[in-house]
Amino acid sequence: MAVDVRYIKGVGPRKASDLSRLGIKTAGDLIYYMPRRHEDRSRIEPIEKLKAGEIATVKGKIVRHGVWKSKKGVLIYEMVVSDKTGSVHCVWYNQPYLKRHFAVGRDIILHGRIERFRNLQLAHPDYEILDREDDYSASVNMGRIVPIYPLTANITQRYLRSIIARILGENLRHVKEALPTYVRARHKLTDIRFALQNIHFPHKIENLRMAYHRLAFEEFMVLETALALVKRKRAEETEGVSHEVKGHEIDIFTRMLPFKLTQGQMNALKEVEQDMRRPKTMNRLIQGDVGSGKTVVAMYALFLTIRNGLQGVLMVPTETLAQQHYLSVGEFFMPLGINVRLLIGSTEKKEKERIKTELSEGAIDIIIGTHSLIQEDISLDKAGLIVVDEQHKFGVSQRSMLKKKGAKADILLMTATPIPRTLALTAYGDLDITSIKELPEGRQPISTFWVEDSRKDKVYKFVKEEVAKGHQAYIVCPRIEEEGLEELSSAKGLFENLRKNEFADIEIRLLHGRMQGKVKESVMRDFKKNKISVLVSTVLVEVGIDVPNVTVMVIENADRFGLSQLHQLRGRIGRGEHRSYCILTCRPRTEDAKRRLEAFENSADGFELAEEDLLIRGPGDILGTRQHGLPGLRFGDLIEDRGILEEARKEAFELVEGDSGLREERHAELREAVIARYKGRMKFLNVG
Ligand code: ADP
Ligand code: MG
Repeated sequence: MAVDVRYIKGVGPRKASDLSRLGIKTAGDLIYYMPRRHEDRSRIEPIEKLKAGEIATVKGKIVRHGVWKSKKGVLIYEMVVSDKTGSVHCVWYNQPYLKRHFAVGRDIILHGRIERFRNLQLAHPDYEILDREDDYSASVNMGRIVPIYPLTANITQRYLRSIIARILGENLRHVKEALPTYVRARHKLTDIRFALQNIHFPHKIENLRMAYHRLAFEEFMVLETALALVKRKRAEETEGVSHEVKGHEIDIFTRMLPFKLTQGQMNALKEVEQDMRRPKTMNRLIQGDVGSGKTVVAMYALFLTIRNGLQGVLMVPTETLAQQHYLSVGEFFMPLGINVRLLIGSTEKKEKERIKTELSEGAIDIIIGTHSLIQEDISLDKAGLIVVDEQHKFGVSQRSMLKKKGAKADILLMTATPIPRTLALTAYGDLDITSIKELPEGRQPISTFWVEDSRKDKVYKFVKEEVAKGHQAYIVCPRIEEEGLEELSSAKGLFENLRKNEFADIEIRLLHGRMQGKVKESVMRDFKKNKISVLVSTVLVEVGIDVPNVTVMVIENADRFGLSQLHQLRGRIGRGEHRSYCILTCRPRTEDAKRRLEAFENSADGFELAEEDLLIRGPGDILGTRQHGLPGLRFGDLIEDRGILEEARKEAFELVEGDSGLREERHAELREAVIARYKGRMKFLNVG
């Protein structure tokens, strides 16, 4: 199985290097190479029954062939093939050399689309020359259900089919059964050899389905077993900080808040408190829709760590959000005599030095910042807690670097990208997950609608009316500046235009990522104080920004944004007591874009939209699959096959529960499979 493909008959060094572009390096990779789809070529059609427009397989004798030149000078190789019922023409353009392959009198099978061109003809059909008249049962290309593989340069379907068929013939019996028999019985899963044979060359379509199910299950089961093992090991650790909780800390904390917590928030506070009490490190992810009030949970965790005389760290993805948290968290904690500081890229050098010193002396209680917290050579070894807000904006490596700086600190991650639970548990490895389902009471529903570009003046007029009522508005553009010929709204362009025309008598300002930190800060501060009425910005305001007085969010070229992103943007409004409006302006160019915008118009549920988005874009984009290091899966699809994923996960966790070291004889092969696949990568499963 581990044999290098170059030593396989018919491969050699050249082809081996071509194959490596498909991720195929060993014999095992070939066996596990998943076809993109299959084509049913098992039915041979009598030639007289052929109809234009259909895809068909025919079998006959070559009765004539030759090369000729069309009027336009194209060289055409043409052959006529007959069976007992009639004859059909086959043509290949610009491939005169094909003539050498064929000879009159040979038996041949052809597969392709039937076209009408004077006569019926097959253009560029797949073909297979038969040695003896009835010997097509052994063919890998014809007379059966045929695999179609993803290809690369110099590798053809015919070539792949032939070497895969050979490898299967020679090696299939060496493949080991990783799934314990009792698991296979329980889930009615086929034998591994049957599955591999049939995923490539199924005798019936039903076999294909059974084969796929089995292989996806196995893949998920191996992954989930690895996760279960890591999680198990984690549970035994006693390395972390143990926070002491005296009395009713939750009561003390909530009494200082201006509102009553929702059930979900209260639950989150309790779970976080329990985690922090334990000596092992907390690894919890809070997922909750935009506006569900996750910040409070972070504040409580910070509160606990400070009460224990330890430092709290809060890392966020943008400077603007860091500044906002600095203002609101500071407002809450500073009156209690707690020292809160801000460290971002644009913090002045002198100030940075001061912060570094104070941090190492333990004079700072809470440090809020961006990835500067990782980059700067600061010490966080007094940290009892690290919170990462909008964690999906960070990569695994960034989180683990932060974690290294505060080795024993508890970790609290927060995200507003809700995804189905099993997927979250898998994608986020060994994290514990808390979901906050409901939004705080008294929120006004948001009206969402989209309008064509041509009616934008009406939109701006509406914005003016809202501003006249004392409310504020965001206008979000996909770009900072104009670029090339694309007709996209740019923040700068639109800002200049609106300032001179429609909004000449309104306080309007610009905000984008390339502005200086100081400037951004003052714009945000003025906007928060309602000194600015309209803010034209980029997606910078996507994460975390909280200004309850804003009632309008205009999103320009909305078809340029993914559903989850739109939802995040919309989450910026509807935070206060007034009715809010989300207006999408665009000219959707595809049906798909239109459908997406309609889905968005009709749903306010982040979970629902995230699922829709997952189906459209796949998990990679949303979870940043590469970022969190989840290994590529060959068969299983985390979204489409989530039912199988769920079953496999349950089975894997039960199995590890009963046999934590996979020492039992009946789990030996599974153990080997887990090691083969995840050895040295087990770290990906951790936050740290
Ligand atoms: P997110 O989950 O998107 O980070 P925030 O923590 O920013 O949400 O909270 C959104 C807004 O709701 C803030 O203005 C916050 O003060 C307010 N808020 C949070 N919890 C409650 C609550 N239980 N009742 C009323 N308002 C709340
Ligand atoms: Mg937030």
